[in-house]
Amino acid sequence: MEYGLLSQITIKGKITLPSSARCSICNEPLKETTREMAKSHVPEYTYNTFSSFKHCTKCGRFYWKGSHQENLQKKLSDLLYRS
Ligand SMILES: [Zn+2]
Repeated sequence: MEYGLLSQITIKGKITLPSSARCSICNEPLKETTREMAKSHVPEYTYNTFSSFKHCTKCGRFYWKGSHQENLQKKLSDLLYRS
């Protein structure tokens, strides 16, 4: 049963991958947001480099495309929202 559920998620994930991203902290589906909205929440470099941003409505973290940036993104998010 567990295996079946996993397969289902994988198939679903393949179809809806770009829009089904979830917050790595609270697992909420991420909402598309504009660059302008993200500007004051993300590092300037990130704002200038990426054009697609999403944010979690639950915890307020911002995410952007670029999987190689994930670790850095998490660190920055922690720094930004820890205070
Ligand atoms: Zn969240």
